[in-house]
Amino acid sequence: MTDRVVVITGGSRGIGRATAIAAAARGFRVVVGYASNKTAADEVVGTIEAKNGKAIAVKCDVGSEADILALFKVADALGTLGALVNNAGIVGPSIRVDAMSAERIQRMMAVNVTGSILCAREAVKRLSTKHGGKGGTIVNLSSVAARLGAPNTYVDYAASKGAIDSFTIGLGYEVAGEGIRVAAIRPGLIDTEIHASGGEPDRAHRLAHVVPMKRIGTADEIANAIVWLMSDEASYVTSAILDVSGGR
Ligand code: NAP
Repeated sequence: MTDRVVVITGGSRGIGRATAIAAAARGFRVVVGYASNKTAADEVVGTIEAKNGKAIAVKCDVGSEADILALFKVADALGTLGALVNNAGIVGPSIRVDAMSAERIQRMMAVNVTGSILCAREAVKRLSTKHGGKGGTIVNLSSVAARLGAPNTYVDYAASKGAIDSFTIGLGYEVAGEGIRVAAIRPGLIDTEIHASGGEPDRAHRLAHVVPMKRIGTADEIANAIVWLMSDEASYVTSAILDVSGGR
């Protein structure tokens, strides 16, 4: 158990929501970031408070540096940072690269890549023993798309997650001597609303048959791996990327 603070971007729905609830159950005070769905974020906070946990919802579009700075200010007021979960991420409608607009690609990279790196920057400033911090963990959400490339679907998204893999390895090495562990999870097909935001709500179910385990995963199954990485049970794990994908 810990009484330290975890910042979870995109904590209002899906994998972020499940992680917020699981982290609170392990004693973390949770900063629940959300982009626009205040109702969903408030529901997560209510669920945590109903079990005597501490949580606060903060509107933060990770595509905005100003929002990220404000998010971490709230975290500072809540206590000592112990972890960051770089969970916020977006997909786009399925199209080929030869049909992609510059705006789509730039937004994908701004949210999935730049947002994650800026959040990690703020976390390192607070966690690193070099800056007087007490150490902690950073968990990044990659995707099996980083390995598969997502042809004819969203190669830009896959590329953004490939960047997250490289970032995880590099940052992990950079701060390994400063009390910070950095790891990434590569989820496979998980039952969340991200598929609807890509224009195909049934995508995960439609592709379940290609998963070696013949089923899609749940947000809780990803959250369990994330909170394990945040725990002392993973004390020798850094610069690591863990596939949680039913074998996909
Ligand atoms: P989701 O159900 O669509 O939820 C997305 C969450 O991110 C929501 O809390 C949303 O906030 C927030 N969000 C969206 N855009 C944001 C932005 N610009 N700034 C800050 N927050 C933002 O997604 P999910 O399926 O849980 O995915 C979570 C992570 O896992 C993502 O990084 C995704 O790429 C990765 N992943 C998911 C799957 C899968 O099959 N589900 C597979 C591989 C990887 P609001 O509620 O305010 O909209």
